[in-house]
Amino acid sequence: MFTRLPGGYCDSRDSTSWLLQRKPLSYAHTAPGVNFSSGLSAEAMKTTRREFNYAMLLSLCSLSLRQTRAQTQLRVNGERIVKHIHALAEFGKNPQGGVSRVAYSDADKQGREYVFGLLRDAKLDVSIDGAGNLIGRRAGSAAGLAPLLIGSHIDSVPEGGNYDGVVGSLGAIEVAQTLAEQNVTLRHPLEVVIFQNEEGGLIGSRAMDGELTERELDLVSRSGKTIREGIKFIGGDPAKLAGVRRKKGDIAAYLELHIEQGGYLDNEKIKIGVVEGIVGINWWDVTIEGFANHAGTTAMNNRQDALLAAAKFIEAVNRVVTSVPGRQVGTVGRINALPGAPNVIPGKVVLSLELRDLDAAKINMLYDKIRAEAQQIAAASKTRFDFKEINVNIPAPTDARIRSLITEAARELGLSTKLMPSGAGHDAQDMARLGPVGMIFVPSVGGISHSPREFSRPEDIANGANVLLHTLLKLDRK
Ligand SMILES: [Zn+2]
Repeated sequence: MFTRLPGGYCDSRDSTSWLLQRKPLSYAHTAPGVNFSSGLSAEAMKTTRREFNYAMLLSLCSLSLRQTRAQTQLRVNGERIVKHIHALAEFGKNPQGGVSRVAYSDADKQGREYVFGLLRDAKLDVSIDGAGNLIGRRAGSAAGLAPLLIGSHIDSVPEGGNYDGVVGSLGAIEVAQTLAEQNVTLRHPLEVVIFQNEEGGLIGSRAMDGELTERELDLVSRSGKTIREGIKFIGGDPAKLAGVRRKKGDIAAYLELHIEQGGYLDNEKIKIGVVEGIVGINWWDVTIEGFANHAGTTAMNNRQDALLAAAKFIEAVNRVVTSVPGRQVGTVGRINALPGAPNVIPGKVVLSLELRDLDAAKINMLYDKIRAEAQQIAAASKTRFDFKEINVNIPAPTDARIRSLITEAARELGLSTKLMPSGAGHDAQDMARLGPVGMIFVPSVGGISHSPREFSRPEDIANGANVLLHTLLKLDRK
Protein backbone atom coordinates (compact mmCIF):
# COMPACT_ATOMS: atom_id res chain seq x y z
CA MET A 1 0.00 0.00 0.00
CA PHE A 2 1.16 3.45 -0.72
CA THR A 3 -0.09 6.65 0.84
CA ARG A 4 0.28 10.06 -0.68
CA LEU A 5 -0.55 13.39 0.78
CA PRO A 6 -1.65 16.28 -1.35
CA GLY A 7 0.43 19.39 -1.79
CA GLY A 8 3.78 17.70 -2.32
CA TYR A 9 4.67 17.64 1.37
CA CYS A 10 6.13 14.19 1.12
CA ASP A 11 8.30 14.75 -1.88
CA SER A 12 10.83 11.97 -1.50
CA ARG A 13 13.67 14.21 -2.73
CA ASP A 14 14.23 15.67 0.70
CA SER A 15 14.26 12.33 2.50
CA THR A 16 14.96 12.53 6.24
CA SER A 17 16.92 15.79 6.07
CA TRP A 18 13.66 17.62 5.51
CA LEU A 19 12.26 16.25 8.77
CA LEU A 20 15.40 17.00 10.74
CA GLN A 21 15.37 20.63 9.70
CA ARG A 22 11.93 21.12 11.20
CA LYS A 23 11.31 22.37 14.71
CA PRO A 24 11.21 19.32 16.98
CA LEU A 25 7.68 18.72 18.23
CA SER A 26 7.13 18.97 21.89
CA TYR A 27 4.10 18.37 24.01
CA ALA A 28 6.09 19.03 27.19
CA HIS A 29 3.95 22.03 28.06
CA THR A 30 0.94 19.72 28.21
CA ALA A 31 1.37 18.17 31.58
CA PRO A 32 0.26 14.59 31.99
CA GLY A 33 -3.40 14.43 32.94
CA VAL A 34 -4.18 17.90 31.69
CA ASN A 35 -7.38 17.89 29.73
CA PHE A 36 -6.89 19.34 26.23
CA SER A 37 -10.29 20.98 26.33
CA SER A 38 -9.86 22.64 29.70
CA GLY A 39 -7.14 24.73 31.21
CA LEU A 40 -5.90 26.02 27.84
CA SER A 41 -6.62 29.37 26.28
CA ALA A 42 -8.25 29.49 22.84
CA GLU A 43 -4.92 30.58 21.37
CA ALA A 44 -3.11 27.69 23.03
CA MET A 45 -5.82 25.31 21.79
CA LYS A 46 -5.28 26.54 18.25
CA THR A 47 -1.52 26.08 18.58
CA THR A 48 -2.01 22.60 19.99
CA ARG A 49 -4.36 21.62 17.18
CA ARG A 50 -1.91 22.97 14.63
CA GLU A 51 0.91 20.97 16.24
CA PHE A 52 -1.27 17.87 16.37
CA ASN A 53 -2.08 18.21 12.67
CA TYR A 54 1.58 18.82 11.99
CA ALA A 55 2.52 15.67 13.91
CA MET A 56 -0.04 13.66 11.98
CA LEU A 57 1.31 15.05 8.75
CA LEU A 58 4.85 14.24 9.76
CA SER A 59 4.01 10.69 10.75
CA LEU A 60 2.16 10.13 7.50
CA CYS A 61 5.07 11.69 5.64
CA SER A 62 7.54 9.50 7.39
CA LEU A 63 5.38 6.43 6.69
CA SER A 64 5.23 7.46 3.05
CA LEU A 65 8.97 8.08 2.95
CA ARG A 66 9.65 4.72 4.52
CA GLN A 67 7.45 3.10 1.91
CA THR A 68 9.14 5.05 -0.89
CA ARG A 69 12.51 3.98 0.45
CA ALA A 70 11.36 0.35 0.66
CA GLN A 71 10.14 0.64 -2.91
CA THR A 72 13.52 1.85 -4.16
CA GLN A 73 14.94 -1.49 -2.96
CA LEU A 74 12.47 -3.47 -5.10
CA ARG A 75 13.95 -5.70 -7.80
CA VAL A 76 12.35 -8.00 -10.33
CA ASN A 77 13.22 -11.70 -10.48
CA GLY A 78 15.43 -11.80 -13.59
CA GLU A 79 15.72 -15.60 -13.57
CA ARG A 80 11.96 -15.92 -13.66
CA ILE A 81 11.71 -13.68 -16.75
CA VAL A 82 14.29 -15.80 -18.58
CA LYS A 83 12.48 -18.99 -17.53
CA HIS A 84 9.26 -17.57 -18.99
CA ILE A 85 11.06 -16.50 -22.19
CA HIS A 86 12.33 -20.05 -22.69
CA ALA A 87 8.89 -21.52 -21.97
CA LEU A 88 7.18 -19.15 -24.44
CA ALA A 89 9.84 -19.99 -27.06
CA GLU A 90 8.39 -23.52 -27.23
CA PHE A 91 5.30 -22.18 -29.02
CA GLY A 92 6.17 -21.90 -32.71
CA LYS A 93 9.74 -23.09 -32.14
CA ASN A 94 11.63 -23.61 -35.39
CA PRO A 95 14.74 -25.70 -36.20
CA GLN A 96 16.90 -22.56 -36.48
CA GLY A 97 16.39 -21.87 -32.75
CA GLY A 98 13.91 -19.04 -33.16
CA VAL A 99 10.14 -18.93 -33.51
CA SER A 100 7.60 -18.57 -36.27
CA ARG A 101 4.70 -17.34 -34.19
CA VAL A 102 2.88 -15.14 -36.65
CA ALA A 103 -0.34 -13.60 -35.40
CA TYR A 104 -3.48 -15.80 -35.56
CA SER A 105 -1.46 -19.02 -36.10
CA ASP A 106 -1.95 -22.02 -33.80
CA ALA A 107 1.40 -21.22 -32.20
CA ASP A 108 0.27 -17.64 -31.52
CA LYS A 109 -2.93 -18.88 -29.90
CA GLN A 110 -1.04 -21.37 -27.72
CA GLY A 111 1.55 -18.74 -26.74
CA ARG A 112 -1.24 -16.38 -25.76
CA GLU A 113 -2.83 -19.08 -23.59
CA TYR A 114 0.49 -19.52 -21.81
CA VAL A 115 0.81 -15.75 -21.28
CA PHE A 116 -2.82 -15.58 -20.11
CA GLY A 117 -1.79 -17.95 -17.29
CA LEU A 118 1.23 -15.78 -16.41
CA LEU A 119 -0.97 -12.68 -16.18
CA ARG A 120 -3.31 -14.54 -13.83
CA ASP A 121 -0.38 -15.81 -11.74
CA ALA A 122 0.71 -12.17 -11.38
CA LYS A 123 -2.64 -11.52 -9.61
CA LEU A 124 -4.12 -9.52 -12.47
CA ASP A 125 -7.74 -9.65 -13.61
CA VAL A 126 -7.31 -10.92 -17.14
CA SER A 127 -9.59 -10.25 -20.08
CA ILE A 128 -9.45 -10.29 -23.87
CA ASP A 129 -10.78 -7.10 -25.43
CA GLY A 130 -12.82 -7.01 -28.63
CA ALA A 131 -9.67 -6.64 -30.72
CA GLY A 132 -8.06 -9.68 -29.11
CA ASN A 133 -5.56 -7.79 -26.94
CA LEU A 134 -4.78 -9.56 -23.66
CA ILE A 135 -5.25 -7.19 -20.73
CA GLY A 136 -4.32 -7.88 -17.10
CA ARG A 137 -5.70 -5.25 -14.76
CA ARG A 138 -5.26 -4.38 -11.11
CA ALA A 139 -7.12 -1.61 -9.30
CA GLY A 140 -5.25 1.37 -7.86
CA SER A 141 -5.60 2.85 -4.37
CA ALA A 142 -6.67 6.35 -5.44
CA ALA A 143 -10.06 7.02 -6.93
CA GLY A 144 -10.66 8.46 -10.37
CA LEU A 145 -7.19 8.03 -11.89
CA ALA A 146 -6.63 6.82 -15.46
CA PRO A 147 -4.62 3.58 -15.71
CA LEU A 148 -0.89 3.25 -16.24
CA LEU A 149 -0.24 0.80 -19.08
CA ILE A 150 2.82 -1.39 -19.57
CA GLY A 151 3.28 -4.11 -22.17
CA SER A 152 4.33 -5.14 -25.69
CA HIS A 153 3.54 -8.03 -28.07
CA ILE A 154 4.32 -11.75 -28.38
CA ASP A 155 3.59 -12.39 -32.07
CA SER A 156 6.66 -12.73 -34.31
CA VAL A 157 7.67 -12.36 -37.93
CA PRO A 158 8.07 -15.66 -39.84
CA GLU A 159 11.47 -17.11 -38.83
CA GLY A 160 11.71 -14.61 -36.02
CA GLY A 161 13.55 -14.60 -32.71
CA ASN A 162 12.68 -15.14 -29.06
CA TYR A 163 13.13 -11.60 -27.76
CA ASP A 164 11.34 -9.07 -29.99
CA GLY A 165 8.20 -8.08 -28.08
CA VAL A 166 8.64 -10.99 -25.69
CA VAL A 167 11.11 -9.18 -23.41
CA GLY A 168 8.70 -6.27 -22.98
CA SER A 169 5.65 -8.48 -22.52
CA LEU A 170 7.18 -10.88 -20.00
CA GLY A 171 9.13 -8.01 -18.38
CA ALA A 172 5.84 -6.15 -17.81
CA ILE A 173 4.21 -9.26 -16.32
CA GLU A 174 7.24 -9.69 -14.05
CA VAL A 175 6.86 -6.08 -12.85
CA ALA A 176 3.19 -6.76 -11.98
CA GLN A 177 4.13 -9.97 -10.20
CA THR A 178 6.92 -8.26 -8.22
CA LEU A 179 4.49 -5.55 -7.08
CA ALA A 180 1.94 -8.21 -6.03
CA GLU A 181 4.51 -10.25 -4.13
CA GLN A 182 5.75 -7.17 -2.28
CA ASN A 183 2.20 -5.97 -1.54
CA VAL A 184 2.76 -2.71 -3.38
CA THR A 185 -0.48 -1.18 -4.65
CA LEU A 186 -0.09 1.65 -7.12
CA ARG A 187 -2.28 4.75 -6.84
CA HIS A 188 -3.25 4.32 -10.49
CA PRO A 189 -4.91 1.23 -11.89
CA LEU A 190 -2.27 -0.92 -13.60
CA GLU A 191 -2.88 -2.59 -16.95
CA VAL A 192 -0.47 -5.04 -18.51
CA VAL A 193 -1.35 -5.14 -22.22
CA ILE A 194 -0.18 -7.81 -24.65
CA PHE A 195 -1.07 -6.27 -28.01
CA GLN A 196 -2.11 -8.69 -30.74
CA ASN A 197 -0.51 -8.73 -34.21
CA GLU A 198 2.15 -6.06 -33.83
CA GLU A 199 4.27 -7.46 -36.64
CA GLY A 200 1.41 -7.46 -39.13
CA GLY A 201 0.77 -3.71 -38.81
CA LEU A 202 0.22 -2.82 -35.14
CA ILE A 203 -3.34 -4.17 -35.36
CA GLY A 204 -4.10 -4.46 -31.63
CA SER A 205 -2.76 -1.04 -30.67
CA ARG A 206 -4.36 0.59 -33.72
CA ALA A 207 -7.69 -0.89 -32.66
CA MET A 208 -7.18 0.70 -29.26
CA ASP A 209 -6.51 4.18 -30.65
CA GLY A 210 -9.36 3.82 -33.15
CA GLU A 211 -7.26 3.78 -36.33
CA LEU A 212 -8.05 0.24 -37.46
CA THR A 213 -10.50 0.48 -40.35
CA GLU A 214 -13.31 -1.86 -41.34
CA ARG A 215 -11.62 -2.33 -44.74
CA GLU A 216 -8.42 -3.60 -43.10
CA LEU A 217 -10.34 -6.36 -41.32
CA ASP A 218 -10.70 -8.14 -44.65
CA LEU A 219 -6.99 -8.03 -45.51
CA VAL A 220 -5.32 -11.43 -45.40
CA SER A 221 -2.65 -11.70 -42.71
CA ARG A 222 0.48 -13.87 -42.82
CA SER A 223 -1.41 -16.67 -41.06
CA GLY A 224 -3.65 -17.01 -44.13
CA LYS A 225 -6.65 -15.77 -42.13
CA THR A 226 -8.15 -12.34 -42.65
CA ILE A 227 -7.66 -10.00 -39.72
CA ARG A 228 -11.38 -10.34 -38.97
CA GLU A 229 -11.07 -14.15 -38.83
CA GLY A 230 -7.86 -13.85 -36.85
CA ILE A 231 -9.45 -11.63 -34.19
CA LYS A 232 -12.23 -14.22 -33.73
CA PHE A 233 -9.65 -17.02 -33.66
CA ILE A 234 -7.81 -15.51 -30.69
CA GLY A 235 -10.95 -14.75 -28.70
CA GLY A 236 -11.80 -11.19 -29.76
CA ASP A 237 -14.97 -9.98 -31.42
CA PRO A 238 -14.58 -7.80 -34.54
CA ALA A 239 -18.16 -6.55 -34.06
CA LYS A 240 -17.10 -4.98 -30.75
CA LEU A 241 -14.13 -2.91 -31.91
CA ALA A 242 -15.89 0.32 -30.96
CA GLY A 243 -15.71 -0.77 -27.32
CA VAL A 244 -11.94 -1.27 -27.56
CA ARG A 245 -11.28 2.34 -28.56
CA ARG A 246 -9.83 4.71 -26.02
CA LYS A 247 -9.70 8.46 -26.21
CA LYS A 248 -6.86 10.85 -25.57
CA GLY A 249 -6.49 11.09 -21.79
CA ASP A 250 -7.97 7.63 -21.14
CA ILE A 251 -4.52 6.41 -20.18
CA ALA A 252 -2.23 8.09 -17.64
CA ALA A 253 0.82 6.82 -19.54
CA TYR A 254 2.18 3.84 -21.48
CA LEU A 255 5.63 2.34 -20.93
CA GLU A 256 7.18 -0.27 -23.20
CA LEU A 257 10.35 -2.23 -22.64
CA HIS A 258 11.84 -3.61 -25.87
CA ILE A 259 15.05 -4.97 -27.31
CA GLU A 260 16.90 -2.33 -29.33
CA GLN A 261 16.94 -4.38 -32.57
CA GLY A 262 19.98 -2.37 -33.63
CA GLY A 263 23.62 -2.39 -32.58
CA TYR A 264 24.21 0.99 -30.92
CA LEU A 265 23.86 -0.12 -27.28
CA ASP A 266 25.80 -3.35 -27.77
CA ASN A 267 28.63 -1.61 -29.66
CA GLU A 268 28.93 1.20 -27.17
CA LYS A 269 28.48 -1.09 -24.11
CA ILE A 270 25.56 1.02 -22.86
CA LYS A 271 22.97 -0.72 -20.73
CA ILE A 272 19.77 1.25 -21.30
CA GLY A 273 18.44 3.10 -24.33
CA VAL A 274 16.06 5.95 -23.50
CA VAL A 275 13.94 6.25 -26.61
CA GLU A 276 13.43 9.80 -27.87
CA GLY A 277 10.67 8.75 -30.22
CA ILE A 278 9.64 6.32 -32.88
CA VAL A 279 10.74 7.46 -36.29
CA GLY A 280 8.38 8.50 -39.02
CA ILE A 281 8.38 6.09 -41.97
CA ASN A 282 7.46 7.23 -45.49
CA TRP A 283 7.11 4.86 -48.43
CA TRP A 284 6.88 5.66 -52.12
CA ASP A 285 6.62 3.55 -55.25
CA VAL A 286 8.89 5.06 -57.89
CA THR A 287 8.14 4.18 -61.53
CA ILE A 288 10.79 4.88 -64.16
CA GLU A 289 9.63 4.79 -67.77
CA GLY A 290 12.19 4.28 -70.53
CA PHE A 291 11.83 2.40 -73.79
CA ALA A 292 12.10 -1.39 -74.16
CA ASN A 293 14.13 -2.20 -77.24
CA HIS A 294 16.40 -4.84 -78.80
CA ALA A 295 19.55 -5.27 -76.70
CA GLY A 296 21.59 -6.39 -79.71
CA THR A 297 20.69 -3.79 -82.31
CA THR A 298 20.17 -0.60 -80.30
CA ALA A 299 23.36 1.46 -80.06
CA MET A 300 24.60 2.39 -76.61
CA ASN A 301 24.10 6.10 -77.27
CA ASN A 302 20.52 5.57 -78.39
CA ARG A 303 18.96 3.85 -75.40
CA GLN A 304 16.33 4.82 -72.83
CA ASP A 305 17.37 2.25 -70.24
CA ALA A 306 15.06 2.47 -67.21
CA LEU A 307 17.18 0.08 -65.15
CA LEU A 308 20.36 2.10 -65.74
CA ALA A 309 18.45 5.21 -64.57
CA ALA A 310 17.25 3.21 -61.55
CA ALA A 311 20.84 2.26 -60.68
CA LYS A 312 21.85 5.94 -60.70
CA PHE A 313 18.77 6.78 -58.64
CA ILE A 314 19.61 4.17 -55.97
CA GLU A 315 23.11 5.63 -55.68
CA ALA A 316 21.62 9.14 -55.44
CA VAL A 317 19.27 8.11 -52.58
CA ASN A 318 22.22 6.85 -50.59
CA ARG A 319 24.26 9.99 -51.35
CA VAL A 320 21.47 12.41 -50.40
CA VAL A 321 20.60 10.59 -47.17
CA THR A 322 24.22 10.53 -46.03
CA SER A 323 24.92 14.13 -47.09
CA VAL A 324 23.54 15.64 -43.86
CA PRO A 325 24.41 14.79 -40.24
CA GLY A 326 21.92 12.75 -38.20
CA ARG A 327 20.45 9.27 -37.85
CA GLN A 328 18.09 9.42 -40.84
CA VAL A 329 18.03 6.35 -43.08
CA GLY A 330 16.94 5.83 -46.68
CA THR A 331 16.53 2.55 -48.52
CA VAL A 332 15.59 1.17 -51.91
CA GLY A 333 14.57 -2.34 -50.88
CA ARG A 334 12.55 -3.65 -53.80
CA ILE A 335 13.08 -3.38 -57.55
CA ASN A 336 11.27 -4.84 -60.50
CA ALA A 337 12.62 -4.40 -64.06
CA LEU A 338 10.37 -5.03 -67.07
CA PRO A 339 10.10 -6.90 -69.28
CA GLY A 340 12.89 -8.72 -67.46
CA ALA A 341 14.72 -10.51 -70.27
CA PRO A 342 18.51 -10.67 -70.85
CA ASN A 343 18.14 -9.52 -74.47
CA VAL A 344 15.74 -6.60 -73.93
CA ILE A 345 16.71 -3.12 -72.72
CA PRO A 346 14.53 -2.57 -69.61
CA GLY A 347 11.68 -0.23 -70.55
CA LYS A 348 10.15 0.14 -67.13
CA VAL A 349 11.29 -0.15 -63.51
CA VAL A 350 9.20 0.02 -60.36
CA LEU A 351 11.15 0.37 -57.14
CA SER A 352 10.43 1.27 -53.53
CA LEU A 353 11.80 4.26 -51.66
CA GLU A 354 11.69 4.39 -47.87
CA LEU A 355 12.84 7.28 -45.65
CA ARG A 356 12.86 7.26 -41.82
CA ASP A 357 13.61 9.96 -39.27
CA LEU A 358 12.32 11.39 -36.00
CA ASP A 359 11.68 14.69 -37.74
CA ALA A 360 9.00 14.79 -40.45
CA ALA A 361 10.46 18.05 -41.83
CA LYS A 362 13.80 16.33 -42.39
CA ILE A 363 12.11 13.49 -44.26
CA ASN A 364 10.42 16.05 -46.51
CA MET A 365 13.69 17.91 -47.08
CA LEU A 366 15.48 14.68 -48.09
CA TYR A 367 12.58 13.68 -50.33
CA ASP A 368 12.73 17.04 -52.16
CA LYS A 369 16.48 16.59 -52.75
CA ILE A 370 15.94 13.04 -54.03
CA ARG A 371 13.25 14.26 -56.44
CA ALA A 372 15.63 16.92 -57.75
CA GLU A 373 18.30 14.24 -58.34
CA ALA A 374 15.69 12.09 -60.12
CA GLN A 375 14.87 14.96 -62.45
CA GLN A 376 18.53 15.30 -63.46
CA ILE A 377 18.87 11.55 -64.02
CA ALA A 378 15.65 11.55 -66.09
CA ALA A 379 16.92 14.37 -68.31
CA ALA A 380 20.30 12.71 -68.88
CA SER A 381 18.82 9.24 -69.58
CA LYS A 382 15.72 10.29 -71.53
CA THR A 383 13.50 8.53 -68.98
CA ARG A 384 10.58 9.69 -66.84
CA PHE A 385 10.24 9.35 -63.05
CA ASP A 386 6.92 9.14 -61.26
CA PHE A 387 6.60 9.09 -57.44
CA LYS A 388 3.54 7.66 -55.72
CA GLU A 389 3.15 7.95 -51.96
CA ILE A 390 2.23 4.56 -50.48
CA ASN A 391 2.35 5.03 -46.73
CA VAL A 392 3.16 7.73 -44.20
CA ASN A 393 3.72 7.02 -40.51
CA ILE A 394 4.29 10.28 -38.73
CA PRO A 395 7.05 10.32 -36.09
CA ALA A 396 5.85 9.62 -32.52
CA PRO A 397 7.96 11.45 -29.96
CA THR A 398 8.07 10.03 -26.43
CA ASP A 399 7.21 12.21 -23.43
CA ALA A 400 10.09 14.38 -22.15
CA ARG A 401 9.08 13.95 -18.51
CA ILE A 402 8.97 10.14 -18.86
CA ARG A 403 12.36 10.19 -20.60
CA SER A 404 13.87 11.90 -17.58
CA LEU A 405 12.17 9.45 -15.19
CA ILE A 406 13.62 6.51 -17.16
CA THR A 407 17.07 8.14 -17.06
CA GLU A 408 16.72 8.78 -13.31
CA ALA A 409 15.56 5.20 -12.64
CA ALA A 410 18.49 3.80 -14.65
CA ARG A 411 20.96 6.07 -12.87
CA GLU A 412 19.69 4.96 -9.45
CA LEU A 413 20.19 1.35 -10.57
CA GLY A 414 23.75 2.18 -11.64
CA LEU A 415 23.05 1.69 -15.34
CA SER A 416 24.46 3.77 -18.19
CA THR A 417 21.97 5.37 -20.60
CA LYS A 418 21.83 6.77 -24.09
CA LEU A 419 19.10 8.85 -25.72
CA MET A 420 18.21 7.31 -29.06
CA PRO A 421 15.48 7.13 -31.68
CA SER A 422 13.65 3.91 -32.41
CA GLY A 423 14.18 3.04 -36.05
CA ALA A 424 11.51 0.35 -35.84
CA GLY A 425 7.79 0.80 -35.32
CA HIS A 426 6.20 -0.20 -32.00
CA ASP A 427 2.79 -0.31 -30.32
CA ALA A 428 3.99 2.71 -28.32
CA GLN A 429 3.55 4.93 -31.40
CA ASP A 430 -0.20 4.29 -31.30
CA MET A 431 -0.41 4.70 -27.54
CA ALA A 432 1.26 8.12 -28.03
CA ARG A 433 -2.08 9.28 -29.48
CA LEU A 434 -3.80 8.44 -26.18
CA GLY A 435 -1.33 9.76 -23.62
CA PRO A 436 2.34 10.23 -22.75
CA VAL A 437 4.57 7.28 -23.63
CA GLY A 438 8.07 6.13 -22.76
CA MET A 439 10.22 3.35 -24.21
CA ILE A 440 13.16 1.54 -22.65
CA PHE A 441 15.63 -0.33 -24.86
CA VAL A 442 18.02 -3.09 -23.81
CA PRO A 443 20.96 -4.24 -25.96
CA SER A 444 20.50 -6.71 -28.82
CA VAL A 445 23.73 -8.71 -29.15
CA GLY A 446 25.29 -7.91 -32.53
CA GLY A 447 22.31 -5.69 -33.32
CA ILE A 448 20.51 -8.73 -34.79
CA SER A 449 16.71 -8.88 -34.80
CA HIS A 450 13.84 -10.47 -36.75
CA SER A 451 16.11 -13.49 -36.93
CA PRO A 452 16.48 -16.75 -34.98
CA ARG A 453 19.89 -15.35 -33.95
CA GLU A 454 18.27 -12.49 -32.05
CA PHE A 455 19.61 -12.50 -28.47
CA SER A 456 19.64 -10.30 -25.39
CA ARG A 457 21.63 -11.23 -22.30
CA PRO A 458 19.72 -12.27 -19.15
CA GLU A 459 21.33 -9.49 -17.07
CA ASP A 460 20.34 -6.87 -19.65
CA ILE A 461 16.76 -8.15 -19.63
CA ALA A 462 16.64 -7.97 -15.81
CA ASN A 463 18.11 -4.44 -15.93
CA GLY A 464 15.48 -3.35 -18.42
CA ALA A 465 12.65 -4.81 -16.32
CA ASN A 466 14.01 -3.08 -13.20
CA VAL A 467 14.11 0.23 -15.06
CA LEU A 468 10.53 -0.41 -16.17
CA LEU A 469 9.51 -1.16 -12.58
CA HIS A 470 11.11 1.98 -11.14
CA THR A 471 9.93 4.26 -13.91
CA LEU A 472 6.43 2.96 -13.26
CA LEU A 473 6.75 3.63 -9.51
CA LYS A 474 8.04 7.15 -10.18
CA LEU A 475 5.23 7.88 -12.62
CA ASP A 476 2.70 6.59 -10.12
CA ARG A 477 4.01 8.95 -7.43
CA LYS A 478 3.88 12.02 -9.72
ZN1 LIG B 1 8.55 -5.72 -31.38
